[in-house]
Amino acid sequence: MSTDRDGKKLVRSPSGLRMVPENRAHCSPFCLEEPQWVPDKECPRCMHCDAKFDFITRKHHCRRCGKCFCDKCCSKKVPLPRMCFVDPVRQCGECSVISQKEMEFYDRQLKVLMNGATFSITHGCSEKSETVVCRLSNNHRYLFLDGETHYEIEVSRILTVQILTEGFTPGDKDIHTYTSLLESQCITEGGNSRAIGMLIQYKKQGCDDLKQMKFTTSEDINCNKKMSASWLAAMHKAAKLLYESREQ
Ligand SMILES: [Zn+2]
Ligand SMILES: [Zn+2]
Repeated sequence: MSTDRDGKKLVRSPSGLRMVPENRAHCSPFCLEEPQWVPDKECPRCMHCDAKFDFITRKHHCRRCGKCFCDKCCSKKVPLPRMCFVDPVRQCGECSVISQKEMEFYDRQLKVLMNGATFSITHGCSEKSETVVCRLSNNHRYLFLDGETHYEIEVSRILTVQILTEGFTPGDKDIHTYTSLLESQCITEGGNSRAIGMLIQYKKQGCDDLKQMKFTTSEDINCNKKMSASWLAAMHKAAKLLYESREQ
């Protein structure tokens, strides 16, 4: 079984203090690498407003994109948990908007994922289903599924996530639509559909076979459908975040 908590250490980078796993391989799948800073000599002017740098107009590097800006264009200090910074760090306008949006994921959805929810799961094409509680491990690296058996799915080895939704618009109430997060960027956020299931494709450690698992909100008495639907919505956000960072 995988350990749920990894040792962490404090490291000082030019951008600020970071709390990182002792073993680099144990980084959260949501983590991003620190960017290479644009060398000072390659940027005589602010990369946003074009102000010339001199003794008065000093240059600052955005901790998220590594580009050079004047103080005005890079004054915001915003939390950046995806790079493991302990304190808020200086970011340019564009990056601070992205980081602020991600904070909502860290404050809310990540907690929902770690709290877990009940689902009925089926493997591959099998008809046999079982009821499990699925939760994201504390280090964010695994989905732990616990029912009669314990399963672990490594998040970084999940290749596709499809959210199964139930439309609420009159007429197509029972039409199930699949939204593939990893194949297309156009994802409907919330809207008038409710998530009722998820299809994932993943690979097991040391095995190249593509496995498939289907999650559905269970009819089981122990299944709180509302909790399961929020868990799926949170997983939707998580997959989007992972997908976007794989694209970069
Ligand atoms: Zn500027
Ligand atoms: Zn930036």
